Amino acid sequence: GFKCGIVGLPNVGKSTLFNALTATAAAQAANYPFCTIEPNVGEVAVPDPRLDVLAGIAKSGDIIPTRLAFVDIAGLVRGASKGEGLGNQFLANIREVDAIVHVVRCFDDGDITHVEGRVDPVADIDTIETELMLADLDSLEKRVVAAEKKAKGGDKEAKELVDLMTRALVLLREGKPARFVERKAEDEKTFRMLGLLSSKPVLYVCNVEEGSAGTGNAYSKAVEARAAEEGAVAVVISAQIEAEIAVLPGEERAEYLAAIGLEEPGLNRLIRAGYQLLDLVTFFTVGPKEARAWTITRGTRAPQAAGVIHTDFERGFIRSETIAYDDYVTYGGEAGARDVGRLRLEGKEYVVADGDVLHFRFAT
Ligand code: GDP
Repeated sequence: GFKCGIVGLPNVGKSTLFNALTATAAAQAANYPFCTIEPNVGEVAVPDPRLDVLAGIAKSGDIIPTRLAFVDIAGLVRGASKGEGLGNQFLANIREVDAIVHVVRCFDDGDITHVEGRVDPVADIDTIETELMLADLDSLEKRVVAAEKKAKGGDKEAKELVDLMTRALVLLREGKPARFVERKAEDEKTFRMLGLLSSKPVLYVCNVEEGSAGTGNAYSKAVEARAAEEGAVAVVISAQIEAEIAVLPGEERAEYLAAIGLEEPGLNRLIRAGYQLLDLVTFFTVGPKEARAWTITRGTRAPQAAGVIHTDFERGFIRSETIAYDDYVTYGGEAGARDVGRLRLEGKEYVVADGDVLHFRFAT
């Protein structure tokens, strides 16, 4: 599965946010099977209204959403790259996630100490980013010499690696994160192999006080401006409210949300933003037994999408009966779509589109 790592300075609300996510997952567990929760990993359902629509049409018995994991990564402080705090532990944890959810403090509260002695979320972003970049610089400088030797020996892969390393080093020395390294799509895999912390996609979470949950505040506006500069997304959330909402029974939840001017829990927005950040795509399998959502990365072909369900499906893949979501809805389900020729037979090269309702044919 795909994982988002929650990072940020101490006391900004990471644990509060993580607890809200796990409480949400616990509340979902009754309805959704296959929910596993480890101490610092919470898997949550990705809210997707399309799944309920499909289940309604097919009169499916069960509704099984796709999931996204969040990992609570504590212990980052100024100096982490030099081993301060939980330094190395922290960096190792970040290496394992696909994307970073960076929580910043956007609330005033004299009772809660800010490690840097002032509330300034944009400066906090720089502090954390600096640690990630320093760790990357350190690791690249250690590795590049050996890679250069290998490249001189004529190894083509090593040459590509050195090229990417060099470009990352140039940026990092200018104080820019490695995610801004310009690269071709075909270099992406090699680039990922470098395992650079500052190369992971980032999403900012502005943790605001209760009164600003719907509107944001001056701090969150500053973070949004910063995010816009670098083409990133910022989500405004009140972690405390989310933690409270997550433990409310369903009916009370809607009332509470309405009272504070929200249409849905902020966590839903966060989960969806995380999903988009990872450039993921959802396809559906729909029948009377269950309607289920599955996650793949954009650009995945039909056999590999089938493999997400079962390795046998990929190995014996013959074709995929494919109905676009809109067609499935417009023509009232599989039979209706088939009648008007909207059920397509797609082969091995087909790139699955977001919202596709798929039925795989395979040989065993
Ligand atoms: P972490 O160190 O980043 O995991 O931060 P915590 O989640 O433990 O939060 C630190 C403290 O800030 C706790 O006492 C929280 O209750 C409090 N806190 C979290 N979010 C908010 C908020 O939006 N407003 C206020 N006033 N306090 C908050």
